[in-house]
Amino acid sequence: MSSHPFLSIVIPVFNEKENLDELMRRCLETCSTIGKPFEIILIDDGSTDGSYDQIEDMAKRHRGKLVGVILNRNYGQHAAVMAGLSAARGELIVTLDADLQNPPEEIPRIVEQLLQGNDVVGTVRTPRCDTIFRRLASYIVNRAAQRATGVRMRDYGCMLRGYRRPVVDAMLKCHERSAFVPVLANSFARQTTEIEVKHQERAVGQSKYGLWKLVNLQFDMLTGMTTFPLRLLSIVGTIISALGVGFGIFLFIMRYIYGPEWAAQGVFTLFAILFIFVGAQFVGMGLLGEYIGRIYHDVRARPRYFVEKVVGRDDTI
Ligand code: UDP
Ligand code: MG
Repeated sequence: MSSHPFLSIVIPVFNEKENLDELMRRCLETCSTIGKPFEIILIDDGSTDGSYDQIEDMAKRHRGKLVGVILNRNYGQHAAVMAGLSAARGELIVTLDADLQNPPEEIPRIVEQLLQGNDVVGTVRTPRCDTIFRRLASYIVNRAAQRATGVRMRDYGCMLRGYRRPVVDAMLKCHERSAFVPVLANSFARQTTEIEVKHQERAVGQSKYGLWKLVNLQFDMLTGMTTFPLRLLSIVGTIISALGVGFGIFLFIMRYIYGPEWAAQGVFTLFAILFIFVGAQFVGMGLLGEYIGRIYHDVRARPRYFVEKVVGRDDTI
C-alpha cells in the first residue's frame, strides 16, 4: 500500500481525446514543480471518442501518478467530479477542466492559498473567453449562489478550484444526485478565498454544454440550494388573489353606480382574471414538479455514478 499523496488533481473527461496529451504533459510538468507527492485523477464520463483507451494507456505509462476512473456512461460533469473526489486520496484536492480553458499552470497558486489556511479556493476567470450566452447564464447562477450560500464568490462556474480534505469528506457524505460541486463545497467551508486566473478559448472540440444541459444545471443548482421558489410561489399567489379580490370589489362598485349593463361587459375581464389564475397554477405545479422529481430521485437512493473500473492504482491490476 503506497502512502497517500499530498495533492490530488481531479479532472472530468467527456470526449476530450485531442486535449488529453497536452493536458497530461502540462499537468505533470506543473505538479512536479511543487515538489510533493501528487496524483492526477482522470474521470472518463462515458466518452465515446476513445478518451477511455487513452486514459487507460496513459495510466499504464505514468503508473503511480495517474489514476483513471472509468464511469460506465455519461453522468454529467458534477457527478464525474464527485466520482473523482471519492477516488482522491490527497490532503489537498484541485479540480480542473480537461479542455485546457483553465491553464494547469495556475495549480501552484491554488495550492499556496490552500496552505495558507483556506478551506476552499475559488477562481475568477479574467478575461472570460466564452460566448455571451454562457456569460449571461453564469451571471444568473452566481447571483443565486451568492444568496443561497452566503459566500460572496464572483465566479461559481469556474471549475479550477482547490479544496482541503475535510471539505471534500463532508461533500462525499452528501448523497443528493443533482449536486453542484462549488456550491456544495462552500456550504462546508469555514474560510474561503478567490484568486484571478487566466482563461483561454477551448483548445479543441466543442463545449459539452448545450442549451438543454445548461437549463438542467440551473435547475439543479436552484432546487439544490434553496426552497425559495416555493415561498415565492405563495407570495405571488397571495398577490394575485389580492388583486382578484380588489378587482371584484371594483366591479361590484361600478355595477352599483352604472347599472347591470356595465357588469355584462365585464365578462371578458373576468375571463382575463381566470386566465391569470390558471397560469399561476401551472407555474406552481411546474415548480412543485421540479422538487418532487428530485425527491423521487433521492428516495430511490441510486448511486450517483457507477465506477466500472479503476486503472493505475497499485492495489488494482
Ligand atoms: N464534462 C464531463 N461530463 C459532461 C460534460 C462535461 O465530464 O457531461 C467535462 C468536460 O470534459 C470538461 C469539463 O467537464 O472537462 C467542462 O466541460 P466544457 O468545457 O464542455 O464546459 P464549458 O467550458 O463550456 O463550461
Ligand atoms: Mg470548457
